[in-house]
Amino acid sequence: MSVNNKKKFRTVIIPDECKGCNRCVVACPKQVLIMTDLLNCNGVPYAQYTGDGCIGCGACFYSCPEPGAITVLEETEE
Ligand code: SF4
Ligand code: SF4
Repeated sequence: MSVNNKKKFRTVIIPDECKGCNRCVVACPKQVLIMTDLLNCNGVPYAQYTGDGCIGCGACFYSCPEPGAITVLEETEE
């Protein structure tokens, strides 16, 4: 894999898979995850990516107790 300075990442959190534990928010070194005031299907507030600044470190993914809740995606800038 070559080094690409334009490499970008984003994190997707599936609201209904989130249990609202806040671990990903605490784990993120860039502080780009927040807890929303919105409730998911289980009645708990869920975490959300703010939309900018993810570095793809994976800390949120590894801190999350729900295997399907968080996906970190690499994006290639055009
Ligand atoms: S991959 Fe890293 S920078 Fe991106 S949202 Fe997760 S913890 Fe934050
Ligand atoms: S660590 Fe996982 S379950 Fe906990 S708030 Fe974040 S996405 Fe939700």
